[in-house]
Amino acid sequence: MSVIQNFNYHSHTYRCGHADLDMKDEEYIEEYIKMGFKKMAFTDHCPEKNEIDKRDNMRMKYEQREEYLKSIQMLKEKYAGQIEIQSGYEVEYLPGEEENLKELKQETDKLILGQHFIYDDNQELKIHGKHDFSDKELLRYAQYIEQAMKLNIPDIIAHPDIYMLKRKEFGEIEEKVAHLICKAAEKYKVPLEMNLNNIFNKTYYENRKLNHKPIEEQRKNLKKVVYPCKEFWKIASKYNINVIYGIDVHHRGQILLFNELVELANEIIGKDVIENLNFINL
Ligand SMILES: [Zn+2]
Ligand SMILES: [Zn+2]
Repeated sequence: MSVIQNFNYHSHTYRCGHADLDMKDEEYIEEYIKMGFKKMAFTDHCPEKNEIDKRDNMRMKYEQREEYLKSIQMLKEKYAGQIEIQSGYEVEYLPGEEENLKELKQETDKLILGQHFIYDDNQELKIHGKHDFSDKELLRYAQYIEQAMKLNIPDIIAHPDIYMLKRKEFGEIEEKVAHLICKAAEKYKVPLEMNLNNIFNKTYYENRKLNHKPIEEQRKNLKKVVYPCKEFWKIASKYNINVIYGIDVHHRGQILLFNELVELANEIIGKDVIENLNFINL
């Protein structure tokens, strides 16, 4: 097998509670090798020293860190020469959490920023996909992403267009947010990830079960996909920024569909825009 991009830095594990619970870390590696990937990073949803996100089944407990890192270290050694394995976390930036984030950065190879949070005016946590964000809050969301880059926290910005989840259309404010994120990514030289997970969830994993329908059938569901968002990437293509694909693996078989998912992503974005994006090797 050969892949269009031979690395993927967005992989979850059973520890977060919403990935396949019976899938061992090593099974992910076996799928990566089968596909011909040369580098990968485990970037499970980070544990929180201060428990901010109170939802169940979202992330590992703080005490699980050591076991998680030990498991990755073991695989790193076992598969040396076959595939380069890195450790990491998917983190969110919140004011006040800077020191904890730096600690996570120090103990791993990669941090990806999967920003889902903001504090509202009453210092209450608001979460993407769960709460509606006002326009003002959406702008604050972009500022948080910018601030994280300014503080040199993330190595990659995961799904920079996920904010479209609860937005009805790509209007003026959505455009402004895209410019803020892209401008900061250009300034701080942080790559943006074109995330393939929403495509997977609306096609091959529709109704939370893997199906093996041909790609022509899957294509019919593309209108349900929120991100990658064509309008966002059109704006991104006007900036001098680096782009990578990210699978955001949570399930068995997801890595094996990488080539199809990229093909579908490219169809959503359109050849004209894809050709103007600077996909890099990282
Ligand atoms: Zn997840
Ligand atoms: Zn993720």
